[in-house]
Amino acid sequence: MRIKVLGSAAGGGFPQWNCGCSNCDRVRRGLLRGRPRTQAQVAVSPAPATWFLLNASPDLRQQLLQDLEFAPAQHTRGTPISAIILMSADVDGVMGLLHLREFQPLKIYATASVLRVLTEENSLFRSLERSVPPVQWQALPLDQPIPIYQRAGDAVSALTCKAVSLGGGYPDYVSNSLRKQLAKEEAVIGLEFVQDGKKFFYAPSLSGYDENWKCLAKESDLALLDGTFWTDNELIDVRGSGKTAREIGHVPLSGHDGLLARFPSGGKGRRVLIHLNNTNPVLDEESAASKAVRDAGWEVAYDGMEIEL
Ligand SMILES: [Zn+2]
Repeated sequence: MRIKVLGSAAGGGFPQWNCGCSNCDRVRRGLLRGRPRTQAQVAVSPAPATWFLLNASPDLRQQLLQDLEFAPAQHTRGTPISAIILMSADVDGVMGLLHLREFQPLKIYATASVLRVLTEENSLFRSLERSVPPVQWQALPLDQPIPIYQRAGDAVSALTCKAVSLGGGYPDYVSNSLRKQLAKEEAVIGLEFVQDGKKFFYAPSLSGYDENWKCLAKESDLALLDGTFWTDNELIDVRGSGKTAREIGHVPLSGHDGLLARFPSGGKGRRVLIHLNNTNPVLDEESAASKAVRDAGWEVAYDGMEIEL
């Protein structure tokens, strides 16, 4: 199984167009030791020329064009993208679908509730239904591994995908009338991929600690997890007002109740942070926060990072 990080920042990217925080200001001026980043996007591949996109970032067009592995075969129309798997209805994870509207038959997996949000409330996504055949919206069950890649007679073994609930809520744009009908546990999911005994767990939005996801993350060969904020008050400190990290569905990294302290010890796999907000001091490779992350045994994802399991 191959995993590519096409984008590693939270919504807004790094730098964010309307943000003049210390990080954004210094990276614009070339005064920060650290890399600019596009908005979080990950792809997983079980076999050559076969990719699954995990979420659909607002930067998706640029991210796909920058990597020849996502190009169609020469002189053809088509794509090596087998399906897109959506992990919530958040704008930053679904907006990129609108970059894929060039009459390409696509398969899109999401929980039944997220599918309702996209197909019943957002008529823009009907632009995906113009292809022949039209987009296939596929409901993803919770806690049940499903084979997403399994080709008859193929020497490559199957890839399974299991969705687990991560709590969290539906985005603000979802109407109250629909919200009342949606299953709470289907709002935000994490994904476990298994192929040939290797396990990859992906969760860019962790709103709390639950034994289920902690166990999957600990047992995985690669855990790619929510690195959005360093402190709970990070946005308030920069903007002067607003919500805490926890209020918008992200546990912070630091502190006695932060992800670094609460992550179970004893796992053997790689632990990598993704979805970093532009205010996060970890983006500055010379910061104490960046050092603390590395000292705790974590890596920080960057655009173009590739991992093979
Ligand atoms: Zn900023």
